[in-house]
Amino acid sequence: MRVVVIGAGLGGLSAACHLTGREHDVTVVERAPIPGGRAGVIEAAGYRMDTGPCVMTMPGLLRDVFAAAGADMDDHVTLRPVDPMYRAVYPDGSSLRVRHGREAMTEEIRNVCGPDEAAAFGPFCDWLAELYRLEMPDFIDRNFDSPLDYLTRIGTLVRIVRMGGLRSVHRKVASFFSDERLHKLFSFQAMYAGLSPFDALAIYCVITYMDSVEGVYFPDGGMHRMATGLAAAAAAAGAAFQYGTAVERIEVSRSGGTRGVHLDDGTFIPADAVVANPDLPVAYRDLLDVPTPRVAARGRYSPSCMLWLAGVRGSVPAAATHHNIHFGSEWEGAFTDLLDRGTTMRDPSILVTAPSVSDPTMAPAGGTSLYVLEPAPNLDGGVDWRGERERRRDDLVARVGALGYPVDVEVEHYLDPIDWAEQGMERGTPFALAHTFFQTGAFRAGNRDRRIPGVFFTGSSTTPGVGVPMVLISGRLAAERVRTWERERR
Ligand SMILES: Cc1cc2nc3c(=O)[nH]c(=O)nc-3n(C[C@H](O)[C@H](O)[C@H](O)COP(=O)(O)OP(=O)(O)OC[C@H]3O[C@@H](n4cnc5c(N)ncnc54)[C@H](O)[C@@H]3O)c2cc1C
Repeated sequence: MRVVVIGAGLGGLSAACHLTGREHDVTVVERAPIPGGRAGVIEAAGYRMDTGPCVMTMPGLLRDVFAAAGADMDDHVTLRPVDPMYRAVYPDGSSLRVRHGREAMTEEIRNVCGPDEAAAFGPFCDWLAELYRLEMPDFIDRNFDSPLDYLTRIGTLVRIVRMGGLRSVHRKVASFFSDERLHKLFSFQAMYAGLSPFDALAIYCVITYMDSVEGVYFPDGGMHRMATGLAAAAAAAGAAFQYGTAVERIEVSRSGGTRGVHLDDGTFIPADAVVANPDLPVAYRDLLDVPTPRVAARGRYSPSCMLWLAGVRGSVPAAATHHNIHFGSEWEGAFTDLLDRGTTMRDPSILVTAPSVSDPTMAPAGGTSLYVLEPAPNLDGGVDWRGERERRRDDLVARVGALGYPVDVEVEHYLDPIDWAEQGMERGTPFALAHTFFQTGAFRAGNRDRRIPGVFFTGSSTTPGVGVPMVLISGRLAAERVRTWERERR
């Protein structure tokens, strides 16, 4: 069967690897000159700067995608554990290093927060691991046709509810630890799902499992290497790649089925199935003639971010590690600002990643590659991003400098929600539809739509959701839909 994959983001690449491995005739059409989408790269003046994801978790999922294309991940990407995974710095001046391995982390908690808190870490990890074990096969790594499918998983649901899965992330974490620093450390991950830890259901603690228990990794040469590796594996397995060309329209036949895709260079590629990787609401609006599903059109979108990427002269402070989270003094109020009031956080928590700390190839000698992310409201919020662009960039850089990082800039790129929107991301957020309960799983915009048979979706705005692990799974789930469609057509 001929399949066109629109977009070589990690979702599209995963779909391509899974389809090519099944001997479909796959063509990937990507409008950019390189693969990766959000997981892009900028190389300038000897600095290499990842433009999107910087925290890599769940390497086994990446390995599975390579294997689907008949490739060995080790031939394409070398992953190394980042240890400490994060350095968490608190407003009182204390800091905690999140370590790989339970023993090392228990010891760190003992040293910083005392023996009672350290004793809670093991049971917390066991709880997280059980949550993951229950959720992954039944609710994350599978296709849903309707919310009624949940009834077939009722036993698992009941167990998750009994484990406290419907309490808030904050309350659940606080049931293990009393030190507020640990509350922040093990609940900030709710932000990855676009939610405040005070509102997010504890079922989303699986994200905490993915980093704090399974660990954080970094590919030699940067995160973008995941994308170039997957593209190479898919190509070696027979997929054709066409870069620098955008799809303008997906042609769907009236009698049902896909005819192919029209490209912006005027050509047409015939296809029996199409897998679309652009942000789902954008794909509906720009490439299809059917209305966008209600949840994607009217739903609540995750907050966005300001991102400052810089190649700077000098070294990071001696205590700094690869990933440094600088927590602000406000916690609950900061989420109210961001999520309810649509403003920036009053005393923002920021992530300062310095990949050249663990991989010297990311910066020239004497330089540091910096990646600084501050959460920000998306375009539904009330910030005048155009009018305030310069001031906000300057404020962020000043804060980074005040924290002791070098800010003697050689090259830099600054992105805010307007930039994300210009790159085709709905509401100017790179983090897609928020993972509220009714925007997750069977309630999220599906990866197939009965109105347009033969068209399937992959990426962070469909199931299972946002982040590298989830979009890799979404590629597999989309490929599964294509195979089912192929069987149905026979
Ligand atoms: C700043 C930032 C920080 C992040 N941090 C993390 C993190 O630390 N850890 C983590 O796990 N995740 C993180 N994420 C999220 C993660 O990067 C995304 O969820 C994931 O990469 C999205 O992949 P995707 O395949 O859904 O979409 P994309 O990467 O957006 O891929 C879509 C592709 O489709 C192409 N395309 C669009 N329209 C067309 C068209 N008409 N024709 C042809 N091609 C088209 C685009 O060019 C793009 O290549 C971060 C993202 C950003 C931006």
